[in-house]
Amino acid sequence: MPSGGQTTVIQRILERRAQHLRATPEETTATIAVMLRLVPPAKALLVCRDAAFRAELEQRITRGMLECEPVADEHEALQRCAAGNHAVVITDSLQLIRRLRAAPALRPPLVLYLAERDEPVARAAGLAVGADECLGRQALERELDARLASARRIAELETVLRITLAENRKLSATDDLTRVASRRFFSKHFPREVERAARYGRALSLILCDIDLFKSINDSLGHAGGDQVLRQFGARLQKQLRRGIDWVARIGGEEFAVVLPETGYEPALEVARKLRAAIAQVHFSSEGKSVTVTASFGLCGLDRVPAGERRLAERVLKIADAALYRSKHSGRNRVTATMFNAGGE
Ligand code: GH3
Ligand code: MG
Ligand code: MG
Repeated sequence: MPSGGQTTVIQRILERRAQHLRATPEETTATIAVMLRLVPPAKALLVCRDAAFRAELEQRITRGMLECEPVADEHEALQRCAAGNHAVVITDSLQLIRRLRAAPALRPPLVLYLAERDEPVARAAGLAVGADECLGRQALERELDARLASARRIAELETVLRITLAENRKLSATDDLTRVASRRFFSKHFPREVERAARYGRALSLILCDIDLFKSINDSLGHAGGDQVLRQFGARLQKQLRRGIDWVARIGGEEFAVVLPETGYEPALEVARKLRAAIAQVHFSSEGKSVTVTASFGLCGLDRVPAGERRLAERVLKIADAALYRSKHSGRNRVTATMFNAGGE
């Protein structure tokens, strides 16, 4: 725990920051406003058996700026909802709402229930089965547009939130799943490692590795099981390396890069061999099962990083990638190594 004095200093810094944030709220508001304007209209599924009523509602909903898909059949409606593409469902069927809420959904829609009668009992029945909003038929004229506007607003905000979260993830330095460095971090910092090594004429090596036949691991363990393997894979690589010097990044779905500063071709080849063995020799455990995982490795090693080479980081990456490709094509679960040849490619 920080002492009282430090707490006050930290407090002051945080307060100053908070004030600074407060000074520019328009920026965020403006960005959200732009995103809200640009998101495509949310999709609504309209499920009513009565064709005339459905046609009338369809017009109203489209006017309310939701993209409306009318459906008469409940089974079909459920199938369409399972894909998670509909932010709003408008229906007069309690049965459908019940089934909709019972099914696991990627993205649970906002459900607007149209009750036969405009009575508290009918509304309560809708809420009880999982509707978010209820509306009696007689109240349609007065209330429907307002309800649609709020459904649309919620759907739009949810979309903006999803986009923002995905963008934050992209900006992050660590990979969410495996906790090793992110692809973004690698793109930015690997060239810096190369520049640094070139400046001082030091050694540097790069190992790329890709899990073998990962698709079939996913097929047999499920995607969540595959994720568990990826997590263990990243941790296992990291455990074999020098802490605080070597680093691992997840640069693709099941592809990792290992950066070895101050490490020339021969010692890097030893590391690559050690990594291959650490993966292949001890089983992974996922979804309560023990699985054998292997990976293919490609190495590009430089005993002395030359100065003044153009696009050197990119070339090293390409060479390691070509070596990895050779490992894949000569039977997988192996290491292929190339020593960087200045001037050549
Ligand atoms: P190869 O030995 O040639 O590399 O075969 P492979 O099956 O590993 O390669 P491929 O590139 O055909 O398939 C990679 C698979 O990795 C496909 C994709 O669904 C899966 N994958 C990518 N990212 C993730 C992830 O984050 N989690 C899980 N579970 N799977 C992922
Ligand atoms: Mg693979
Ligand atoms: Mg791959």
